[in-house]
Amino acid sequence: MLSTELPPSPSGQAFIDQPRSPSPNQNLVPLSAEINAQGHLEIGGCDVPALVEKFGSPLYILDETTLRAACGQYRDAFKAYYPGPSQVIYASKAWSCLAVCAVVAQEDLGFDVVSGGELYTTLRTLGQMGWNTAEAASKIYFHGNNKSRQELEEALAVGCVIIVDNWLELETLARLGAERPEAPIPILLRLTPGIECHTHDYIRTGHLDSKFGFDPQQLDAVFTFVAQQSQFHCLGLHAHIGSQIFERQPHQDLGDVLADWFEKGLGHGLPLEILNIGGGLGIRYTEQDDPPSIEEWVKAVSEAVVKACEKRRLALPKLMAEPGRSLIGTACVTAYRVGGKKVVPGIRTYLAVDGGMSDNPRPITYQSLYRAILANKATAPTAEPVTLAGKHCESGDILIHDLPLPAAEPGDIVTVFATGAYNYSMASNYNRLPRPAAVLVKDGEANLILKRESYSDLIRQDCLPHRLLK
Ligand SMILES: *Cc1c(COP(=O)(O)O)cnc(C)c1O
Repeated sequence: MLSTELPPSPSGQAFIDQPRSPSPNQNLVPLSAEINAQGHLEIGGCDVPALVEKFGSPLYILDETTLRAACGQYRDAFKAYYPGPSQVIYASKAWSCLAVCAVVAQEDLGFDVVSGGELYTTLRTLGQMGWNTAEAASKIYFHGNNKSRQELEEALAVGCVIIVDNWLELETLARLGAERPEAPIPILLRLTPGIECHTHDYIRTGHLDSKFGFDPQQLDAVFTFVAQQSQFHCLGLHAHIGSQIFERQPHQDLGDVLADWFEKGLGHGLPLEILNIGGGLGIRYTEQDDPPSIEEWVKAVSEAVVKACEKRRLALPKLMAEPGRSLIGTACVTAYRVGGKKVVPGIRTYLAVDGGMSDNPRPITYQSLYRAILANKATAPTAEPVTLAGKHCESGDILIHDLPLPAAEPGDIVTVFATGAYNYSMASNYNRLPRPAAVLVKDGEANLILKRESYSDLIRQDCLPHRLLK
């Protein structure tokens, strides 16, 4: 949908005063967002302009209450609606860093990692929290459509579950496994269920034309191969059909398809016990977005899986889900300082901020929509809509089109909402901008969780060959 089709957004005050759902993914703002006596936006009991004063801008501000609430709702909803065992794992690609992993681990969620780097980050977090390797391994699931041999060896050394994506990986693992026959490799098989869902083409992964997973025609061959190899302990099946999904039906259909294949796998003698339904529940970025609550989604998925298993007289498997966006998306906001304004008479007014596509590449990558207010003038009435421009050398580096804001001056603080998922994790140093700092806020306390990069960080990995110095 084009941004110009959106109705105008309300003033900061009205925006924060909108009715709030207990389910974090249904709100535009973090659960703890308020406007304080100075007319400033406050998150986690911290005054946003004061945070920017102290930590600089751009600044990611992560609300611990919202993140914990989302984790707890997933965890508890599965306990309430699914009569078998369940485990929710955090798709850590949404935002992987030590502090986020620690909060997620404290909430008893596991981890989906998709690279050696995410595995390392998760292990370092759990290690610092005093977990041993076996405890950590039991909570980690390693994804990816092209895991390197080194990554596979790292995963084997840890003993985490590997979600096998393709034949090459299966064959490589069979060879690596043969060298250590005493310890069968725990795996899940990633399948491509051929389910379409109405979301952006780039984030649709479950349909058949996808780079991920084994497609249905290969099932028998894959099951036969895995059943013959004693190196594998095939624990279950996995599928992930896409992201930012607002309907419940695709995941319900998926439950049925996976139960079918589960039955088939059991028939091949595989010791299947896990059914992993992936992630993908959407969040509210603008007033137009209307996702189901976490509880509604879990209930729908659980009931579909129970029904699918009853139909086939299957014992209930351990049901897993791996949300990313809906756990952390609306928990974070990004605060920027306003710079210059450019008025193109009769066309539009650009308002520039001190970040952009380097800290939030989603608008330029997916044409994603966002909402924002002026954190230091949260009660002021809105004036003319502005186009919020980043500072990068790309015309497409626009964060928000047609955003109604109060009259803004240089130094004012724009706060963009719902920047928790795929913002920091996709951030770059384009134009050699140092990546922003991040703080975790709760009960009036703000703790630095990512230091702002310095100029020297920017050249830390640069090498200057000797012969260029003459
Ligand atoms: C991206 C991804 C997720 C998380 O998706 P969200 O839309 O952020 O919930 C889960 N599983 C896999 C395999 C993914 O690629």
